[in-house]
Amino acid sequence: MYTLGIDIGSTSSKAVILQDGAVLAAHAVEPLGTGTVGPERALKKVFELCGLSQQDISYTVVTGYGRMNCDYADEQISELSCHAKGVHFLLPTVHTVIDIGGQDAKALSITDKGQLTAFQMNDKCAAGTGRFLDVMARVLNVEISELGPLSQKSSHPVSISNTCTVFAESEVISQLSSNVPIEDIAAGIHSSVAKRVAGMSLRLDRTPDVAMSGGVALNIGVVHAMEQEMGCHILVDPLCQSAGAIGAAVLAWEKRRKGEVDDHE
Ligand code: ADP
Repeated sequence: MYTLGIDIGSTSSKAVILQDGAVLAAHAVEPLGTGTVGPERALKKVFELCGLSQQDISYTVVTGYGRMNCDYADEQISELSCHAKGVHFLLPTVHTVIDIGGQDAKALSITDKGQLTAFQMNDKCAAGTGRFLDVMARVLNVEISELGPLSQKSSHPVSISNTCTVFAESEVISQLSSNVPIEDIAAGIHSSVAKRVAGMSLRLDRTPDVAMSGGVALNIGVVHAMEQEMGCHILVDPLCQSAGAIGAAVLAWEKRRKGEVDDHE
């Protein structure tokens, strides 16, 4: 039985097809989020990759910021539950998840079975999210995928004193014009994000193992800065950005298996 999970984010769209809730048949990420052609492209790509079509799918769950705009899924489920399930699927020993996406950051506590028990969230302010990093990468004139490796070359990270994205952007521009090495600025940017997100997660138990999910987990600079702030090792799966879509596909399978939904076949 095949199930489909779709995560329509603010910045990117992810689609995953699972076989029997256990085998990843295909996954696709498009760097365009809600209100764009991103979701449609991710779907097209995921079907092409595994040679299946909509008729082969038993149940579809959609999650993410743009989930309400998706009328072709059988059910919508919150990002929190989907990320918890998705990270558990990828890394079953994890009990604490730090998820940083394009416009929010969350810290989740999960059980041995991937059930959410508590969470903290920042969706009010761009600082401490992917948006902050995207703005800073543009100011530094580097690709977002280069920001992490660049920061790892730093020997004297700067301190970014402004927490507001707009003021921090001016601060970075002023550091650039004072000839501060770009890698030291990049390291300061990552540390600033990590301080905010780690501060938010303090209100949870933070039981090990700890993992990061979301697109920002692809940034090695933020992962290392988070390890420093939280004082522990952080696990990252290469499919971290697709964790929400994987969780959606797992939940779709669990629903079918438990017979909670009508037979579509
Ligand atoms: P959303 O689900 O909210 O759309 P994602 O979880 O896809 O967001 O995360 C998007 C963020 O991930 C971007 O804002 C960017 O900062 C970061 N990101 C995406 N791709 C990469 C990459 N290859 N390297 C580093 N960071 C990345």
